[in-house]
Amino acid sequence: MTPTAPLTDSHLAFARRQDRIDGLGHYRARFIGTVADGSADPAAALPNPIAYLDGNSLGRPTKAAAERIAAFITGAWGTRLIRGWDDEWMELPLQIGDDLGRAALGAGPRQVFVGDSTTVLLYKLARAAVDARPGRTEIVLDSDNFPTDRYVLEGIAAERGLTLRWITSDPAAGVTPEQVRAVVGPQTALVLLSHVAYRSGFLADMRAITRVAHTQDALVLWDLSHSVGSVPVELDLCDVDLAVGCSYKYLSGGPGAPAFGYVRRDLQDVLAQPIQGWMGTQDIFLMGPGYVPATGIRRFMSGTPAVVGMLAMQDTIAMIEQATIGEVRAKSVALTEFALTLVDDWLAPMGVTVASPRESTHRGGHVTIDHPSMRQVTEILWANDVIPDFRAPDGLRIGLAPLSTSFVETYEGVAAIRDVLRGILIGQSGGAV
Ligand SMILES: *Cc1c(COP(=O)(O)O)cnc(C)c1O
Repeated sequence: MTPTAPLTDSHLAFARRQDRIDGLGHYRARFIGTVADGSADPAAALPNPIAYLDGNSLGRPTKAAAERIAAFITGAWGTRLIRGWDDEWMELPLQIGDDLGRAALGAGPRQVFVGDSTTVLLYKLARAAVDARPGRTEIVLDSDNFPTDRYVLEGIAAERGLTLRWITSDPAAGVTPEQVRAVVGPQTALVLLSHVAYRSGFLADMRAITRVAHTQDALVLWDLSHSVGSVPVELDLCDVDLAVGCSYKYLSGGPGAPAFGYVRRDLQDVLAQPIQGWMGTQDIFLMGPGYVPATGIRRFMSGTPAVVGMLAMQDTIAMIEQATIGEVRAKSVALTEFALTLVDDWLAPMGVTVASPRESTHRGGHVTIDHPSMRQVTEILWANDVIPDFRAPDGLRIGLAPLSTSFVETYEGVAAIRDVLRGILIGQSGGAV
C-alpha cells in the first residue's frame, strides 16, 4: 500500500525533516527489518512491514541480539556447557536487573531481577504484599487494568479472603491520585495499578499515587509493562514498594521473554514470596531439607532462570542506556504528537475519535483511536503489511517504539489507516464519501 497523498504533502515533508534531525534516528538501523531512512529494507530476504505500529506489544528484534543468540549457542552453551552456570548464568537475572534498573527504572542495584512471566511475578509480589499486611481486608485496583492483572488479584483475593476494591477509571484516561485517595484506608493491604494504561496510554502519576497509598501504610505494586523503555520511571525516587513489567514490549526481549520484578531494598527481607523454589534459597547447592530464603532480591526467584530468554533484552537495555531514557521519552512524545496531528487532520473528519490523553504529560508511548470499523481496518492493514493492533470494542492502537520507529514510518502507517478506512466508508455508503 503506498500513500495516496502527493509528495508535496506537508506532513510528509515534516516527517522527513524530523527523521533527518532526529538524534536517535540512527538506532533504527540497529533493528532487523528496517533501514535508517524510514522505508522497509529492500535488501531483506523476507518482506518487512511498511509500518510497524505494534512495538509496544512485541518489540522488533535487534541485529545485536541475533548475533548474541547465535554466539551463545556455539559459545557459552556449546563449549562451556554446565560450567556456564558458574561462569555467569546464575548471576544473569540479577546482573540484567541491575542494568535495567540503571538504564530505565531509576532503581539502585540489587533491587531488580529477571525471571518468570509478568503474570507469575504479579502473583508472587502481590501475594507477598498482602501477607505483609495481615488483618487488612482490601486490594485496590482499577477496572481498566490489563486482564491478567485483574485475574491474578481475583485469585489472590479468593485465596486470602480479601475484597477487591475497584476504581472505575475513565477509559480514555486513567487513575488519578484523587481516585486512589477516595478508596484507600486502614483496610487497604495493596494498591495495584499500571503506570501506563494498556488501552488508553494514560500515564499515571506514580509519585503522587504512591504517596497517597503510603499515608495509609498500604503497599503499592506498579505494572510497568507499557512504560518500561519508553517513559522514564523513577522507582527509588517515588518510594515505590514493588513493580513488575514485561521485557518483550519496548525492551525487545522477544516473544515470551521473562519479565522483571522490583522489590525495594528495605522490603526484601521482610516479604515472603509464595513460590518457594531452590533458586531463591540462601545456599542453592546445600540442597537442604527445608526452604531457607536468601537475603536480598534473590529470594524472589523460584526456579532455574530462563537464560536463553534473557539474551535479546540485554542489547535493547544497552541501547536505552546509551541513548538515555530522557531522549527516548522526548522522541516518543514527538512521535505520538505527530500521530495525533495526522489523526486530527485525516481521520477525525471520518468520525475517528482519540481515546488517549491529549496532553503529552499524561500520555505514554502509544495512541489509541476509536471507530466502529477499526476491527475491519486492522484486518485489512495486517494483510497489507501495516501493523497496528486492535483492542475491543473499537480501538486501534498506534504503538510507536521510539528507538525503532521513524516519523516517515508513522506517516505511512496513519496514511494507510486513512486509506483503508476511507475505502470501507465508501463501500458502506455506496460510493458517496
Ligand atoms: C503485556 C502485559 C502483561 C502480560 O503479562 P504476561 O504474563 O507476559 O502475559 C501484563 N500486564 C500488563 C499491564 C501488560 O501490558
